[in-house]
Amino acid sequence: MLRTYVTEISKIQRVKASGFLRKLVKMPIVKGMKNLKLPSKMRITIRSRKFVRFSQKRTRFYTKYATVILKALRNPLFQKFLDWMLKRESIEESMITNVQVRLFPFRKKNGKGLAGRCNSRGEILIYPKRLGFCRKLIRKCGKENVYFYIKSRAKAALIHELLHLKYLDNEDKVRELTRKYFNIFIQHQNTQNSNAYNVLKMLFTQ
Ligand SMILES: [Zn+2]
Repeated sequence: MLRTYVTEISKIQRVKASGFLRKLVKMPIVKGMKNLKLPSKMRITIRSRKFVRFSQKRTRFYTKYATVILKALRNPLFQKFLDWMLKRESIEESMITNVQVRLFPFRKKNGKGLAGRCNSRGEILIYPKRLGFCRKLIRKCGKENVYFYIKSRAKAALIHELLHLKYLDNEDKVRELTRKYFNIFIQHQNTQNSNAYNVLKMLFTQ
């Protein structure tokens, strides 16, 4: 399960271009996408019991959230990265049954939210942050940064859960590798706004 991991922002610039980035430059993304099966296994899902409990306004918010997340996870550049990571880690694509972007948040008994989890059937579930949290954050950081954050959070959660398929309950190893792979990916992300790194730093250390 994904809880906290520190993205070592200060180190990002110093990391050398990885094999992934070098390969990416040479390979047209559209061509590479034809072989990727993962996007077709991704969908938004909902537990009907919860659906009844949420107001229309909340449902609208979470629907928009899930749509943004699904698009971010299906993003060709990110898919290309995952493909590279899975190969590097020798994680078979067939181990992944599906990736479900859950419409509503999951709250653990201790009241804390959950970014993602996976089960023994190879199903990966990605959960949103709560509406209240997002509202507060928008006031504090601005909409653009919050979008960047929620997309990054979901991507990191998916990386994390994919690694669990191989490393099972070795949480330390999974966290260490999540940090490593997420840093490799984020290096390549075109961050137009200067606050992006601060947002990531703030949120991944919480
Ligand atoms: Zn975990």
